[in-house]
Amino acid sequence: MPLTDVDSLLALQEVDLKIRDMESRLKLLPKEMQSLIGRRDALLKDTASAADRARQVELEVKNTENAIAGLEAENRKLQQQSGMVKKNAEYQALLAAVETNRKKIGELEEKTLLLFDELETARARAAKVKEDNAQTIKNIKSEFDELFAFSKTVETELARLKKERPDRLCGIDPDTLSLYTRLLNAKNVRTPVSKVEEGVCGNCHLRVTPQCMNHLRRDRLAVCDNCQGLLYIDGDAD
Ligand SMILES: [Zn+2]
Repeated sequence: MPLTDVDSLLALQEVDLKIRDMESRLKLLPKEMQSLIGRRDALLKDTASAADRARQVELEVKNTENAIAGLEAENRKLQQQSGMVKKNAEYQALLAAVETNRKKIGELEEKTLLLFDELETARARAAKVKEDNAQTIKNIKSEFDELFAFSKTVETELARLKKERPDRLCGIDPDTLSLYTRLLNAKNVRTPVSKVEEGVCGNCHLRVTPQCMNHLRRDRLAVCDNCQGLLYIDGDAD
């Protein structure tokens, strides 16, 4: 491969590896951002359900208080009626009804006291959950904003590199370029062109054959007999 200038090929590879890294980074971003949105939504739901619980207890307190008021009103009515009845049996029946209502009122008042305690706890919990979650949501939001800004930076840089890439193709012969492109797109190849150091291939880490070493000494560029990757040696290497 004497037609290819190794430094041009390495410059192309530098651009291509940056492009590949940025593209794979960009590919991961939507999932990361989606996961942040999911975490935020779960926290919002948590805050809402703590507030709902407090409202539920509040409603129960109100219902109990209304029930007490209803029974008290009924008793006032019964007592008024008791002043007008003439038969003793009727009078006793009214008194018994009043007494039953009083008992119910007593029970409901006890329930209200318990509900007040529950309400206080539920309200305190709702406030705490809201505060904690608001802080976490704030952190999630700034994480999201950072990711978004980062994606814009990467996109801009990627566009610049892609525009610049065609200029990097000169000095590379078509055969080398086609092999290089195949290696670049291969799933299992980390770098298409790797350096030979102390006689070892930078890609497969095996010792390169003497024949390959001869090619490298002549052209600075060769194909590894073992992994078929492109190899180069430094210009001043022996
Ligand atoms: Zn190799």
